[in-house]
Amino acid sequence: MSDMPEKIERTDAEWRELLTQEQYHVLRQKGTERPFTGALTENHATGNYHCAGCGELLFMSGAKFDSGCGWPSFMLPADSKAVVEHEDRSFGMRRVEVTCARCGGHLGHVFPDGPRPTGLRYCINSASLTFTRQEP
Ligand code: FE
Repeated sequence: MSDMPEKIERTDAEWRELLTQEQYHVLRQKGTERPFTGALTENHATGNYHCAGCGELLFMSGAKFDSGCGWPSFMLPADSKAVVEHEDRSFGMRRVEVTCARCGGHLGHVFPDGPRPTGLRYCINSASLTFTRQEP
């Protein structure tokens, strides 16, 4: 297992300058993109998904599956240390929020209704991710 990624911290003004409005809303304000609108929900290419805030490798295409929920869904992160899970009781629900371990950016939530073998569904906003295609 790898070490915890080195944390990066930026001021709110720096994040606003670095990110698009949508990335800022999701990553820094814990926003959620509307279902079936994200650029990566239907992406089936082979490659890696990095944090749109800091570039950390978060998910890999081999763990992506079609959940039908409207957001990119993964069975597990690229590395257990790449993401951090937090209890989230907002909106009268009890959910587990997933953030980037390196920059603290909000990614989405993880639910216990995924496919085998993990049984997990990491439901992640496209706006939180950048995709790098792996050339054959
Ligand atoms: Fe990050």
